[in-house]
Amino acid sequence: MRRPSSTGPSANKPCSKQPPPPPQHALSPAAPPAAATISAAGPGSSAVPAAAAVISGPGGGGGGGGGGAGPVSPQHHELTSLFECPVCFDYVLPPILQCQAGHLVCNQCRQKLSCCPTCRGALTPSIRNLAMEKVASAVLFPCKYATTACSLTLHHTEKPEHEDICEYRPYSCPCPGASCKWQGSLEAVMSHLMHAHKSITTLQGEDIVFLATDINLPGAVDWVMMQSCFGHHFMLVLEKQEKYEGHQQFFAIVLLIGTRKQAENFAYRLELNGNRRRLTWEATPRSIHDGVAAAIMNSDCLVFDTAIAHLFADNGNLGINVTISTCCP
Ligand SMILES: [Zn+2]
Ligand SMILES: [Zn+2]
Ligand SMILES: [Zn+2]
Ligand SMILES: [Zn+2]
Repeated sequence: MRRPSSTGPSANKPCSKQPPPPPQHALSPAAPPAAATISAAGPGSSAVPAAAAVISGPGGGGGGGGGGAGPVSPQHHELTSLFECPVCFDYVLPPILQCQAGHLVCNQCRQKLSCCPTCRGALTPSIRNLAMEKVASAVLFPCKYATTACSLTLHHTEKPEHEDICEYRPYSCPCPGASCKWQGSLEAVMSHLMHAHKSITTLQGEDIVFLATDINLPGAVDWVMMQSCFGHHFMLVLEKQEKYEGHQQFFAIVLLIGTRKQAENFAYRLELNGNRRRLTWEATPRSIHDGVAAAIMNSDCLVFDTAIAHLFADNGNLGINVTISTCCP
């Protein structure tokens, strides 16, 4: 049985996104007149780009062929410790600048300092330390989440990219909009949502109706609700925003409160259905680690404009059928 739940709109952040390239897909004109199906990918294929970190180390030097989780020798640790910033204890990575006496400080800290934290000497003019930069290129540095169990070591050029997608990175609040700054572990996400976002309703079951009310409200608006099934919690998000100048669009997506790996075990289907028309989207849920913003930016979700919304809406309320299923690996 489908159990409808109405979800009121919430004010969204002001839309500050850059104008992206023109839309990449539209309803296929070849589709039958009253049933357009946009199908991203079946459960078998991956609709979400694989988030694998491909790490290859520098050709020569200390690291050999690639980064990895191998044991780090004491000498290697001694070497990386030479790169520790005396202020933030993160690594000083190229471009490496030193004070007049030769002390290093990382570039982030350097911007906030007026003198060298080690000797109080002048930081300007900037003096490059090319020898240390060369050494840095031959050393593998631990991921910045090494303290929370990530065991990867990486070439400095690959470190920022990996850290953006590192599975040990703290989770941010999955609620759309940038208003909540909460961060924490995956285990703490649900209790954060229950305490800080009490207005979000939860429905049990794999097949439910996500009813968004007042879809005609002007401006950027979010509708959010939770769905619990298969022992997991899913967040359903409908976002209305103006991605292109003067063109309001709706974006609907399902996120798993879980890791990317866990998300691969599920598929979701969103369906607008009514007035002898049907619009369907199927994909792998996104992990809340990735959030909704990138998916909306790439239109990797159910996208429809206000005219389509009106075809399916009833009195300004839009019901989206949401079905979650498991897919065997
Ligand atoms: Zn620093
Ligand atoms: Zn100094
Ligand atoms: Zn990591
Ligand atoms: Zn929050």
